[in-house]
Amino acid sequence: MGDLRTLREEVVACRRCPRLVTYREKAAREKKKAFRSEEYWGRPVPGFGDPAARLVVVGLAPAAHGANRTGRLFTGDKSASFLVRALYDAGFASQPTSLARGDGLHYTDLYLTAAVRCVPPDNRPTPEEKARCAPFLQQELAWLPQARSLLALGGFAWDATLDAASAAYGVARPKTAFAHGACAPLGPGRPLVWGSYHPSPQNTNTGKLNPAMMVDLLQRIRGSWSGGQR
Ligand code: SF4
Repeated sequence: MGDLRTLREEVVACRRCPRLVTYREKAAREKKKAFRSEEYWGRPVPGFGDPAARLVVVGLAPAAHGANRTGRLFTGDKSASFLVRALYDAGFASQPTSLARGDGLHYTDLYLTAAVRCVPPDNRPTPEEKARCAPFLQQELAWLPQARSLLALGGFAWDATLDAASAAYGVARPKTAFAHGACAPLGPGRPLVWGSYHPSPQNTNTGKLNPAMMVDLLQRIRGSWSGGQR
């Protein structure tokens, strides 16, 4: 548990990607009109949640005026509203909203993290940025010993999660293609990797991903634990 705390400090202090350092600080300086009076976080955003989690949810990266503003993943934007409501309905979140650090939200049996910890322009990290940030996710997986399911939100997170998990657990990388509901085994005694469409407005506003689909997937994952699957 102490190791996750140390990792958090390392993440928050990281400046390894010059393009992303510039971008996250610019977004924090310029701000969105609606948040002009707020102090933005403007730094890498660490993972958070239950250190004994059986479910690890992996997003893509902080959003410019969501987590890059609030300093907590999936906090303060539309993606957060959608995801945290579903996590609450599925019994993982203490409340249905995620508005700001210190709002009382906590997770039970769930740890929330991301493939890349700094907001990227157009939500597109480069392959080099993805590779530079990967050791943080690998380390988190190694320090979350109760993890039985890894849920990747979107295709980018799917690839990053398969890479990180195969490195963290020392197993071959599954070749399973990303899809909503896809499930890739990492081998006996290892977690299953699940895929979900990303809960971005682009997907939720068009109905590609709706609340019932998200809650259903979370319940399937929980159900897999009682079925003897790892
Ligand atoms: S994206 Fe990751 S590796 Fe790059 S600066 Fe941010 S925290 Fe560091």
